[in-house]
Amino acid sequence: MDRESGGTLPEMAEIWQETLNWQPTIEQGNQLQKLYDLIVLANRQINLTRITEPKEFWEKHLWDSLRGVAPQQHFLPELNAAGSIIDIGSGAGFPGLPIGIVFPHYQVTLLDSTRKKVNFINSAIEKLTLSNATTILGRAEEIGQQTPYREKYDLAVIRAVASAPVCSEYTLPLIKKGGLAIIYRGTWTQEENQNLEHAANILGARIELIDRFTTPLTKSVRHCVYLKKVLHTPISFPRPVGVPIQNPLC
Ligand code: SAM
Repeated sequence: MDRESGGTLPEMAEIWQETLNWQPTIEQGNQLQKLYDLIVLANRQINLTRITEPKEFWEKHLWDSLRGVAPQQHFLPELNAAGSIIDIGSGAGFPGLPIGIVFPHYQVTLLDSTRKKVNFINSAIEKLTLSNATTILGRAEEIGQQTPYREKYDLAVIRAVASAPVCSEYTLPLIKKGGLAIIYRGTWTQEENQNLEHAANILGARIELIDRFTTPLTKSVRHCVYLKKVLHTPISFPRPVGVPIQNPLC
């Protein structure tokens, strides 16, 4: 395969087949293309993402979003069994929107604290006629303390929001005991690992798997860190807005 390709959806579909063992249906292909068009259009008015060049978009937004949950890549039964998933700090809708398009068996909730981003995601959900996606406008610290959301999700995903210990405090209170939190990272160091182990332990979870991989076109290194929730999260977490960032659990 010519790794200089990947500028178009059909070329990307070939790469997805090779690397994720999955090809989009015609409808999914149309939805993914439409998502790209909607983002490029909306980006003229609001600052949604700096990644708008097609090749970069397919790799860094779409492929990367799907790689974290592509079930055949990991031997985590929780991924196949999952029904509800929350994406915390979705921004323009990543990784939640591609996951919703490609995995219709997930009911996806996209949470962000910025109104204009949630407005964009709502309009994308409507235009893509995605029946398995919904949004919440709010802060993870507050939503994680509210009964309708606390310990209600099978999976949580979080990408490019904060350090790993902060991400663990945002995600773990929202997932059920037995569920998984997936933290999408670029590099991953021994020190980060130690800090996250400590935070996860306080929050009732353990590191289940660290998956290191490279992206298919630019060969950039990525990690997905999978946390398994084994105990209920103590009620004092998440702490009030801003505290996890100011005083991370590490
Ligand atoms: N996850 C997307 C991605 O990977 O492209 C967007 C990442 S963007 C850099 C971080 C997003 O997290 C922003 O849209 C911001 O509003 C949101 N965010 C940051 N802290 C948050 C919090 N405590 N609760 C909810 N959303 C938060």
